[in-house]
Amino acid sequence: MPQDSRTVIAIDGPSGSGKSSTSKGVASRLGLAYLDTGAMYRAAAWLVRERGTDPQDRAAVAELVAGAELAISTSPTQPQIRIEGHDVTEAIRDPEISATVSNVATNQDVRRSLIARQRAIIAASPTGIVVEGRDITTVVAPDADLRILLVADPQARVTRRHAELGDRVDEAAVTDQVLRRDRDDSTVAAFTEAAEGVTVVDSTHLDLPQVIATICRLATEGPTSTAEPTTQEQP
Ligand code: C5P
Repeated sequence: MPQDSRTVIAIDGPSGSGKSSTSKGVASRLGLAYLDTGAMYRAAAWLVRERGTDPQDRAAVAELVAGAELAISTSPTQPQIRIEGHDVTEAIRDPEISATVSNVATNQDVRRSLIARQRAIIAASPTGIVVEGRDITTVVAPDADLRILLVADPQARVTRRHAELGDRVDEAAVTDQVLRRDRDDSTVAAFTEAAEGVTVVDSTHLDLPQVIATICRLATEGPTSTAEPTTQEQP
């Protein structure tokens, strides 16, 4: 992995795999910027709701998102996202947004315009960037220096999401949310298979510092140097 030039690390994975915490941790440790592409889709879903646009009207949704002013911080420690002048950093985490975001994210015209913005942010980052999201290793940044598919078995993902949300939601609701999003997002990316050159990191039995350490090691030593039983490079 080149340390004297820009480094782009792409991290994909399903809901609850620990993508966000891991990506922020890796970016902080390696001194890189961080881009949460899921937050961009969530902000688009927030705007669709706020404007009262019919989510089924795909052309109207695409036009609204393509014309929206969208600004996202690339700091791994100070996330902030604004759309059309509204700071939606907190609002995009609401359960209603989680429940409706896949609808907006499966609109191919929305994807085209957000992917163009994501590529521009990646290209503009001076030192390098960790980018996370469902199609990052395959569509947005297939030429990234390191591409990771972060997986964990469904029960581990449900348990983590439940711990994050605390007592606000019962476990059955979290299970439904995680599994339904797997299903809804399955048209965006197939999480069970990694594309060629993508390294799978299975976090089922690893804690967050271990996952961060594994990816930082892959970033500095290269994917082929790992002998971790929990990782495997796809042929
Ligand atoms: O990662 P996060 O759960 O915040 O992503 C929210 C949603 O945005 C996902 O469920 C998916 O529908 C969509 N998404 C996407 N492509 C990305 C990132 C997120 O379709 N690169």
